[in-house]
Amino acid sequence: MSKRWIPYARQSVNLDDVDAVVRVLQSPNLTQGPNIDEFERAVAEFCGSKYAVACSSATAALHIACLAAGLGEGDSHWTSPNTFVASANCGLYCGSQADFVDIDPHTYNMSVAALAAKLDRAKTEGRLPKVLIPVDFAGQSASYREIHAFARAHGITVIADASHAIGGSYLGKRVGSNAFSDMTVFSFHPVKIITSGEGGMVLTNREDLYEKLVRLRSHGITRENRFLRFEPDGPWSYEQLELGFNYRMTDLQAILGLSQVRRIDEFVKRRKYLVERYNALFAGMPVRTPDCMDEADPAWHLYVLRLPSGVSPVSRKDMYLALRERGIGTNVHYIPVHLQPYYRDLGFQPGQFPEAETYYQECLSLPLYFELTDAEQDHVVDSIREVLRA
Ligand SMILES: *Cc1c(COP(=O)(O)O)cnc(C)c1O
Repeated sequence: MSKRWIPYARQSVNLDDVDAVVRVLQSPNLTQGPNIDEFERAVAEFCGSKYAVACSSATAALHIACLAAGLGEGDSHWTSPNTFVASANCGLYCGSQADFVDIDPHTYNMSVAALAAKLDRAKTEGRLPKVLIPVDFAGQSASYREIHAFARAHGITVIADASHAIGGSYLGKRVGSNAFSDMTVFSFHPVKIITSGEGGMVLTNREDLYEKLVRLRSHGITRENRFLRFEPDGPWSYEQLELGFNYRMTDLQAILGLSQVRRIDEFVKRRKYLVERYNALFAGMPVRTPDCMDEADPAWHLYVLRLPSGVSPVSRKDMYLALRERGIGTNVHYIPVHLQPYYRDLGFQPGQFPEAETYYQECLSLPLYFELTDAEQDHVVDSIREVLRA
């Protein structure tokens, strides 16, 4: 019997999603239509945040979030090394210097202890960062209570990279509520929890940031009378007030996103079920399952199994290859950003963030998505058991 390939992640697009997109395709507005506002309102309402700005990607959203925070030449921004490169690149686009804070060995998120120590040193040396970009790795919120307190004490803006985390909560507040951050960014790339094809969003409770984000998304242009610097020539008038971009989402993407938000509860429920099931099935095997803080109730974008050296008889690479032979796709999240050649050319070196580097040697993201069946999950776990015993 040949089994179908099991990828590590896959979107779920149903007939409602398809019908919604087709309706927009036959409407007058393929972009800048009414569904952008609706999608923004639906996500803001779901998360309990005042404002939301849909963008062409989370990368674009992170970029304009950094600009809205005033990040520029002579500044620095700190993020986790255990993330996708976009979390660090976004500040480089603004001319800021990137730096990293090592991860916590349990949550694989930015370590509070490492952050506290690094902030103390930076304060003495007069080089505090302007922006902190914690990442909610695998969907589990970073330690925002502590991060937020540090940020307030030092006048730092917090941009939560919650690309993995929509649908989860932290200390009883939805991710994206910005209870402990200035802005939150989501990604709607197909591997993430909900998708719009490509797409991202910035959420904030601050009106000043919201106004800037909206302008930066579309060339720095405004048509609102209250922002115009000069008397308008006529009703067609608009003014470019700053240097913005075309980071808009299309209406086609927005309707897909909107249709997916309506399914988010069932998506998250299934992900949580599969994560608990993996945890139970791995009990007693020489592997490490994910730790979850009491404060967090994650929607779980990733299920990361750790194959610790000295505990697991099989290396991460051998496991990756053996599973691929059995028709199972896995992935590695993440190659530490500071080890990328581009970042090495900026002066970063191996050994600077040892927890992230050790973790990287041992981590493997297993298949986790809404349509993964119990039988497919059993096949994944049985295959891992077999490989560990071989
Ligand atoms: C996916 C991802 C991004 C980038 O998202 P895009 O929508 O593809 O631009 C940024 N940060 C993290 C942590 C991600 O996982």
